[in-house]
Amino acid sequence: MYLILLGPPGVGKGTQGVLLADATGWERVVTGDLLRTAKDAGTPLGTQAQQYMTAGNLVPDHLIIKMVEEKLSTLSAGTGVIFDGFPRTEAQASAFAMMLEALGRTIDTVVVLEADDEVLSERISGRRSCPSCGAVYNTVLAPPKKDGLCDVDGTPLFHRADDHADTVQNRLNVYRRETEPLIEYYDGSKAVVHRVPSQEGPDEVQSKVREALGVGE
Ligand code: AMP
Repeated sequence: MYLILLGPPGVGKGTQGVLLADATGWERVVTGDLLRTAKDAGTPLGTQAQQYMTAGNLVPDHLIIKMVEEKLSTLSAGTGVIFDGFPRTEAQASAFAMMLEALGRTIDTVVVLEADDEVLSERISGRRSCPSCGAVYNTVLAPPKKDGLCDVDGTPLFHRADDHADTVQNRLNVYRRETEPLIEYYDGSKAVVHRVPSQEGPDEVQSKVREALGVGE
């Protein structure tokens, strides 16, 4: 199964991707995480991507496509893969289709997570991330057991620079303009597209995702 998780920033793609991967054993390819790792490591890609990410803009297609191409070559042949945060533009989607064709693969399923802008803004402004293990919390909806510290490894949590209120609106605008049209793109493809309302808590949404996919439970 090759699956794309599509949806606006803050809708819960990361959380749902982790829960789904735990339930199925599928791998996750998360372009935001790959870019943040490159940035922290100070690689040329990370340095180039930094200014776009901080402003809440998309990193140029050619950089992302090359990064995903490299990542695809490391995946084991038989495994299922959840793509989170990619593709985000039509150019990325067509390049992706060609890459997969060369590997004899195709996108089987697209899960579109949906929520109102108000809910998204609330989720993003409360989001806190662990720089060490990548776990994600929310100060209101899913707080860590000890204030400001990761439950998994005790590392102090941080508020992503692009999760601050002034950048969030730009990220939502970029999503509506560049990424939302991909829903129609995949509606017109062979992939099965499931729309999953994602206003509720993580477990409720995960049940709906699994029900739609017919996996787990
Ligand atoms: P995310 O963690 O998915 O919200 O991604 C954080 C930031 O990384 C985005 O706001 C973009 O600047 C950049 N990014 C992640 N994935 C992509 C992509 N597929 N295309 C362009 N930029 C991306």
